[in-house]
Amino acid sequence: MVSVIGHERQRRLLARRPAQSLLFVGPEGVGRRTVARWFAYGLNCERGFPPCGVCASCRVEHHPDLFEVAPRTLTKAGQVARRPQIHLDQIAPRAGSGEESLIAWLQTAPRYRAKVGVVDSAHLLGEQAANALLKMLEEPPAYAYLILIAPSREAVLPTLASRSLTVGFGPLPENELQRLGGDPAALRYSEGAVGRLKAALADPAGLAEAESAAREWLRALAGDTAGLLGQTEVLRKLAEGPFDPWLFVARELESWPPAPRRAALEALLAAREELEAYVAADLVYTRLALTLRRLYAGLRSRSTVSR
Ligand SMILES: [Zn+2]
Repeated sequence: MVSVIGHERQRRLLARRPAQSLLFVGPEGVGRRTVARWFAYGLNCERGFPPCGVCASCRVEHHPDLFEVAPRTLTKAGQVARRPQIHLDQIAPRAGSGEESLIAWLQTAPRYRAKVGVVDSAHLLGEQAANALLKMLEEPPAYAYLILIAPSREAVLPTLASRSLTVGFGPLPENELQRLGGDPAALRYSEGAVGRLKAALADPAGLAEAESAAREWLRALAGDTAGLLGQTEVLRKLAEGPFDPWLFVARELESWPPAPRRAALEALLAAREELEAYVAADLVYTRLALTLRRLYAGLRSRSTVSR
């Protein structure tokens, strides 16, 4: 059984089974994967939508009619992949591959009523894997549903997007999130994402620590004595933790005057995009620190002039 918070409109649409191939788009952590699981339980529930929570199918913890594929983050040799990707053998059956593929799994009848295959981070499908998936999207078995999960429709190959019904997910309003717990720091950090809120509620001390470390990092850049390399290291450690340091830094910038704040936010955004495009993290952090330091210098001369 899956419990979902919010997304009522999307769930009403899904309960009508609008298409066999769906593309869930929206920011990270707002609940796209959870709704995909909810959909699988609803399709298989004896009483239909919303899933009743008591029938045989609803009581299964790991549903046998739900299959999720996600990008591989490790190479075959066990190293961290330079570029995580969904590979062909995860999608289509291939001789010699020990792993069950999505398509092979979809070709056998469901245990209950309907099978749901979820492709998490569909924008990271390799070309061959995407082509194999395309064939399945064109002629799925009658009992099969496919859900592609991606940040936006544009991020996915047009051939895949055009064969799927796009369902958009946005941040949740605060009153919906408050049902999980009313801690103001955690709610502020969540910015409407259930996933982020849960992480914050699970570790309030870690959240406070990450927030003050991010603030320190930014302030250290204002001082001429701060070694840039040390600052890069601080940011890297922060980014590897469970909390997103970008959000803390962006909040800290709220007290800046509009023009440098806009420039700083643009630098933050650019850094995030570079990281998502797998530009070397150290380079991105160093460049960001240099830009922010330059902006800090501007802030100082500005306040000198106005004095
Ligand atoms: Zn049920």
